[in-house]
Amino acid sequence: MIRTGIGFDVHRFAEGRKLVLCGVVVPHEFGLLGHSDADVATHALIDAMLGAAAAGDIGKLFPDTDDRWKDADSVGLLRDVVARICRTGWGVVNVDITIVCEVPKLAPYIEEMRANLADPLRVEMDCVSVKATTVEGLGAIGRREGIAAMAVATISD
Ligand code: MG
Repeated sequence: MIRTGIGFDVHRFAEGRKLVLCGVVVPHEFGLLGHSDADVATHALIDAMLGAAAAGDIGKLFPDTDDRWKDADSVGLLRDVVARICRTGWGVVNVDITIVCEVPKLAPYIEEMRANLADPLRVEMDCVSVKATTVEGLGAIGRREGIAAMAVATISD
């Protein structure tokens, strides 16, 4: 059987934080605000993985009221989620992520992001797609207030 899940997340920019996207620290004047490392792209991917397996969502597994997940490495959380899903007989087929922001420009970091996710997902890099786009200055993301990300994950038994 083949199943697909979708994930979406948004985090706002904040001073004094690192900007972490797909586990890559991207140089920028702001990071993202959040209980964990606020890796919005990995959060969207985790929700897509959990959605495909109908196994809940990131807020249910890693509540932001729990100090265990304070400043958590989100790629580590992804590794944990993939392990859970694989234990129930699923394997990852491919994933596709779109990161939505006006700044910073992400093109120089995309290959490192793909490489970073392949290992926790237990797939080759050519099964991991990461893309970036802007919103042409429209809305909160367009006003450079934060970053959004969406992801699709396909799993098979
Ligand atoms: Mg999040």
